[in-house]
Amino acid sequence: LGRHKDEQRPTHFDYNGVRFGQDTLHVFAGLCAVDNREHVEIMMKAVADAGQVCTRMGAYKPRTSPYAFQGHGRNCLPYVFELAGKYGIKVIAMEITHESHLDEIREALRQTGDPTGVMLQIGTRNTQNFELLKIVGRQTEMPILLKRGFGITLDESLNAAEYLASEGNRKVIFGLRGMKTNMGDPHRNFVDFAHVPVVKRLTRMPVCIDPSHSVGTRAAAPDGILDVMHVTAQGIMAGANMVLVDFHPAPPKALVDGPQALLLKELPWFLEDV
Ligand code: PEP
Repeated sequence: LGRHKDEQRPTHFDYNGVRFGQDTLHVFAGLCAVDNREHVEIMMKAVADAGQVCTRMGAYKPRTSPYAFQGHGRNCLPYVFELAGKYGIKVIAMEITHESHLDEIREALRQTGDPTGVMLQIGTRNTQNFELLKIVGRQTEMPILLKRGFGITLDESLNAAEYLASEGNRKVIFGLRGMKTNMGDPHRNFVDFAHVPVVKRLTRMPVCIDPSHSVGTRAAAPDGILDVMHVTAQGIMAGANMVLVDFHPAPPKALVDGPQALLLKELPWFLEDV
């Protein structure tokens, strides 16, 4: 994925009719965690009505506490994929935390007649789970969104991406989602979107920003504009190729990360701003 070896290698890839590269831009607005079929349908309809073909849907959730909701896992996959087909969604970003999830996703896609595509997300807690990276790199043709590790250097995270590529999957998108610091930040994480151009300079990967997990709140600036919107603008101006962003039909009812979710009525404004 680094530029140093083979300058001729293309900087883009196509998946399920969608092109991803360092010169494209896609918004993946959706649910941080699937909670029920009704919310998935409302969310997908809103995404489709806004002219979008990509979304995010979390089935397997890596939670800090073992007592917190862990995601519906394989049980929600059939209705998530069916509804994606119904609303013309071509790519769903979905985190996996274990290799067994690959089989579960493949099986659910097969059973529902392959109505959509899945972009496998490897989250910040697993950026350096090298065995998982090797298996995903070796066993899949699906694109992979690898999030930067929140407490390691950029170089270490870029090397993690090479684990996917060296095993054969070069359809890798690199995700920035903020860094942990010990400085008592007002945001959940310290926003690192200034690194968008750095990653594009050093590698051929498209770069994703995740304003929701970076900021972690619906706090707004004195001008009334949400911090999530402000940092999205910063990432887009820096050249981001993908925006992964949490929305929810009823944020207070969300089972994961409700406080950072945008409202559905904000989706058209968000897209217009992007
Ligand atoms: C997520 O996108 O749902 C998520 C858990 O992100 P991260 O790995 O960046 O915390």
